[in-house]
Amino acid sequence: MSAPVPALNSLPSTLPATPPAGVIAMHGQPDCSRAGAILTIDTGAIAANYHVLRRQIAGGCGAVVKADAYGLGAAAIAPVLYAAGCRTFFTATLDEGISLRPYLPSEARIVILHGVTGGHEAECLTHGLTPVLNTPRQVKAWAAFAWFQGKRLPAFVQVDTGMSRLGLSEPEVDGLMADGRDFAAIGVMMVMSHLACADTPDDPYNDHQRAVFERLRAKLPVAPASLAASSGCFLAPCFHYDLGRPGAGLYGIAPVRGRRNPFQPVIRLDARVLQIRDVPGGTPAGYGRAAVTTGPTRLATLAIGYADGYLRSGGNRGQAWFGDIPLPVMGRVSMDSLIVDATAIPDGCLHEGMLVEIIGPHRDADVIAADLQTSGYEVLTGLGRRFDRQFMSSGEAV
Ligand SMILES: *Cc1c(COP(=O)(O)O)cnc(C)c1O
Repeated sequence: MSAPVPALNSLPSTLPATPPAGVIAMHGQPDCSRAGAILTIDTGAIAANYHVLRRQIAGGCGAVVKADAYGLGAAAIAPVLYAAGCRTFFTATLDEGISLRPYLPSEARIVILHGVTGGHEAECLTHGLTPVLNTPRQVKAWAAFAWFQGKRLPAFVQVDTGMSRLGLSEPEVDGLMADGRDFAAIGVMMVMSHLACADTPDDPYNDHQRAVFERLRAKLPVAPASLAASSGCFLAPCFHYDLGRPGAGLYGIAPVRGRRNPFQPVIRLDARVLQIRDVPGGTPAGYGRAAVTTGPTRLATLAIGYADGYLRSGGNRGQAWFGDIPLPVMGRVSMDSLIVDATAIPDGCLHEGMLVEIIGPHRDADVIAADLQTSGYEVLTGLGRRFDRQFMSSGEAV
């Protein structure tokens, strides 16, 4: 008969005088981070990419830092871009603009792409933010607020040239200009629009949108113009106008499909090995037995999953890297973990707690985007909140 199981709180809290061999050696190993994965962001590369874009277009160059600088951290990145010479910053929402304001000097213009709605015009002014006016209602509300303030207030004006997303339509432009009182109260700093197909330079729709842009611009108060986001900066100079509005390129995403990427990589993501096991052929790995080993295999479980932005669509696709050795993904992606095939790593080289490359020199953001069946944009903005985020510049921690 086996001994009865003692209740947990009846176990003695004192230990035997001598610990078993090995305990001392394992205790208190130095470790840089508790996190399951480490995201390294190279702000020096972001500044270098800004300079690539500045050289690419003759006019000025702003920077889009919406969605917390595409998930990388606007509070750390916007000041780096300011130091690199950028003076116009775009956020999507008013809240993003308000959060960003303390991190930039007052000479930096912060432009709110969604504009202001619902009576928040005063907050926009108080925080020194410039709205993009996208609808007749936004134009009228900003003008009414300006009349009420007794002064002309600056704004960007967006026109829709064929994307049907944001911006005034041609009849709306005509309607507003027929009256004229609204624009009398608004200092139009910039007329802007957005291209639907700029990542495909040969698409004739780019020229169509530019022609519509020219026509609508001519109807509005005379102002500088802005049409190009990252990809647009690599179209012909006639698309560049007075201000580029790149986002993705700053963060290392390739601007034109199928062409050499002119930007430096910005992020590196390394995930920790949680467990290693050697299994025979025929062993299932992960949920649903979606992968089964075909022979003796060394499996490694990594501390990254779909809750960290490693999308489930990446199951059984692509690979992590250990140095130059590829580690193919085995089976489905779990919420907090991912299993890879580490058979190719020589015996004794991989241990629990070590880091393997998820995004880095062997697998840039565009490559993992293909593995996850999405775009580099979604990879960046989906990066999880559990990572240890480390900012560095040219190899130095900042
Ligand atoms: C997001 C956005 C940009 C930046 O686009 P990228 O492709 O990331 O360079 C520029 N303009 C507008 C209106 C946007 O919404």
